[in-house]
Amino acid sequence: MIRSRSRYFVNQYQQFSGTLSNVEYLRDLVKRVLQLIEEKSPPQRASRDGGLYVGAGGIGYAFFSVAECTEFLNIREQCLGKALEYMKVSLEEVSTTSPYDDGIGASFLLGHAGIYAASALVFNALGCQQETEQCIQNYLEMAKICQPLNFFRPGSDELFVGRAGYLCGSLLLNKKLGRTVVPPEVTRPLFDAIIESGRQYSQSHQSQSPLMYSYYRTEYLGAGHGLSSILQMLLSFPEHFSKRKDVESLIHQAVDYVLTCECSNGNYPPVPREVRHQEAELVHWCHGAPGIVYLLAKAYLTWKDDKYLQAMRRCADLTWQKGLLRKGPGICHGVAGSGYVFLLLYRLTKEDQYLYRAQKFSEFMQTEEFQKGARTPDSPFSLYEGLAGTVCFYANLLNPSEAVFPFFEVF
Ligand SMILES: [Zn+2]
Repeated sequence: MIRSRSRYFVNQYQQFSGTLSNVEYLRDLVKRVLQLIEEKSPPQRASRDGGLYVGAGGIGYAFFSVAECTEFLNIREQCLGKALEYMKVSLEEVSTTSPYDDGIGASFLLGHAGIYAASALVFNALGCQQETEQCIQNYLEMAKICQPLNFFRPGSDELFVGRAGYLCGSLLLNKKLGRTVVPPEVTRPLFDAIIESGRQYSQSHQSQSPLMYSYYRTEYLGAGHGLSSILQMLLSFPEHFSKRKDVESLIHQAVDYVLTCECSNGNYPPVPREVRHQEAELVHWCHGAPGIVYLLAKAYLTWKDDKYLQAMRRCADLTWQKGLLRKGPGICHGVAGSGYVFLLLYRLTKEDQYLYRAQKFSEFMQTEEFQKGARTPDSPFSLYEGLAGTVCFYANLLNPSEAVFPFFEVF
């Protein structure tokens, strides 16, 4: 019997010994990868659906991200122009589909809301005020779709299509546009609906966490569709809980419940208490420590409890060991997603050992071992599965103190 291949390449890099790499090569690499994306997946051929996750809009967001970096000021205009071309493909698509079908209008990573939010940023960067305002208006319109507690039967609260995603987009708009675009009157009812929905589910299923959710009948734990990113988004709106001790306490207990799910090696199972064989273990952003680490960071910044930082360090150690994923270069379940764990730890601790690890993961993607041995994702140029996300990671390495996993700003 042939033993199934491991999910990851063996990490043969030495531990940090005080020397960081020269990352100047990334300046050219970013440009080369953008060019490749443009050649292989031009706007007219990029996926019209799939939203920010694997659609044209996600590629547009990657071009926008590079345009935002001070290191790439010289190509800013070209990148923004390209970003707009991709965004227009997705904008056109959402204008032809009903936002009420399965509540897809409110969806951030897979639907209309995310496309409007990202397009608002691109139009704003290009100085197109009227179009920016129109996208914001469309975004605000979508909020009422996701207000009813069970607006989407399979799961109304998670990140991809649920209310946590809508909050994620609201945070993005308010931060990037530097003003209150989505006001508290809009986010508060959604925040409260997430709390109420989680409380009801927890009670009816006798969950150990006072807030629990399911998506297609599965109680996911990780960032993909799970509890951790829902809690992360709740923690990103302190104005809605800091003066309500009962609500804060529910969130706090739920976060600590996530901590109790940690496995002995520092990872988190896709579903609480699900025991997996080491070989089958998922160490991805979508499922596992590399995604849950963002909740831990937010919890650490909120309550300043060292136990969250220690758990984050264990996430990073595990990711160093098992994060050179064979699934490809992407951020959802690929090497760049692993690399972002170290950039997060670096921003939080300022310790060079984490920057070193991020640099090594970027270098690994240039090796023959990776390029010949890794699988090609289904959407090889997309933001979450493909090179568009990878290019964000490369660009962030040039200015690591401002690095952000796409849409997952915790600072
Ligand atoms: Zn994934």
